[in-house]
Amino acid sequence: MRAAWAAIDLEALSNNVALIKAEAAGRKVLAVLKANAYGHGLTRIAQELEQADALGVARLEEAFELRSAGISRPIVLLEGFFADDQLPMLAASNIQPVIHHEWQGKAVLAATDLPAPLHVWLKVDTGMHRLGLEPSKAQAWYQALTDSANVAASPILMSHFACADEPEHPQNTYQIEQFKQLVDEIKPTATSMANSGALFARLGQEHDWVRPGLAMYGISPFLTHAPTLSPRIHKLKPVMTLCADVISTRDVKAGESVGYGSAWTSQRDTRIGIVSIGYGDGYPRLAPEGTPVWIAGKRYPLVARVAMDMVTVDLGPDSKMEPGETAQLWGADLPVEEIAAHVGTVPYELLCNVARRVNLCYE
Ligand code: PLP
Repeated sequence: MRAAWAAIDLEALSNNVALIKAEAAGRKVLAVLKANAYGHGLTRIAQELEQADALGVARLEEAFELRSAGISRPIVLLEGFFADDQLPMLAASNIQPVIHHEWQGKAVLAATDLPAPLHVWLKVDTGMHRLGLEPSKAQAWYQALTDSANVAASPILMSHFACADEPEHPQNTYQIEQFKQLVDEIKPTATSMANSGALFARLGQEHDWVRPGLAMYGISPFLTHAPTLSPRIHKLKPVMTLCADVISTRDVKAGESVGYGSAWTSQRDTRIGIVSIGYGDGYPRLAPEGTPVWIAGKRYPLVARVAMDMVTVDLGPDSKMEPGETAQLWGADLPVEEIAAHVGTVPYELLCNVARRVNLCYE
C-alpha cells in the first residue's frame, strides 16, 4: 500500500501539446510552467516540451531551476523581475523579463553592468487592471526599450485577458479592441495575447505567440461548453491523476460519527473506507460531503472532515471492500473540474496545491 501519489501521464501531455499546436496554427507557443508546472513537476515537464518555443514561469527561482537542469530554451519571467540587481543574472542566463510597470522599464534603461543585452516583453493593460502599462504610455516605452543598448531586440508586446474562460463576456471584445488599437499605433514586431481559454475560444489567438497553461495539463478553463469553442477542447486529456490507497475499512452503525469534530454521523449501517490522503497532500480541507472519490471503477461520496493525512468515504452497507484498493481523487476517471466545482474553487488551485510530499510518478 502507498500513501498519496500523482500519476503524470506524459502521453496525455504530448496529446495536449499537439492539440495546442494545431489550434495555434503556426503561432509560437510559450508554455506556462508557473507553480511547479501547475503541480506537475517543473523540470520534468519542461524536458518533455520540446515543441514549445519558450517556457513561462513566475519566479526567478523557477527560471534558475530550469537553467540548472540544462534547459536552454528561452524562459520568460511572466511577472518580470523584482529588484534592479537581478538584471545582470537575467541577461547572463537569457531569462526574458516581462516589463509590466514603469519602474522596471527605468531599471532596464539605467542598468550599467549587463553581461549581454536583455530580451524583454512589454505588457500593456487592456482591461485586466492588474499588471501592465497604461495604454497611453505604451508607445513611448516600446520606443525607449527598442532604442536602448541594454535591450537586444524590440520588445514583444503582450496583454492578458481577464475573462477568457467566459468567451461571451463583453470584456473580451473590449480588450481585443484596446490591444488592436495599440498594435496599430505601435506596430510592434511581435505580439501575444491568448492564454488557454482565449486560444480555444479563438480570441486574440491570431497574435504571434500564444501562452497556454491549463490546457497543456489537459484541463478545460471553461465553465460551460459553448458551441463557439474549438472542438479540440474536448480532446484534451488530463495529465495528472491524484491517487492514494484505501488503508483501512470499518463498519459503522447508524448513529455513529466519523472523524474530527464527530462532524458526520452515519444515517445507516455502512462500511467506511479510509484513504491515505489529506490536506497535508493538497487535497482541499473544505471538500464537502458528497465530493466524489473514484475507487475500483465506482464513485463513492466523501464523508466527514478532511484531515491532514486521511479522508473517509462511504462505501455503502453492502460493500465488501478491504484495504488495498487504489482511490482516485481526480484525474483520468474523475475530472478535476468537477472536484473544483464541489469545493467552490478552480482546477488551477487544486493542481498547484499538490504538496511536495506527493510523489510525482511519470508514466
Ligand atoms: N499568460 C499569463 C501572463 C499568465 O499569467 C498565465 C497564467 O496565469 C497564462 C498565460 C496561462 O493561463 P492559462 O493557464 O489559463 O492558460
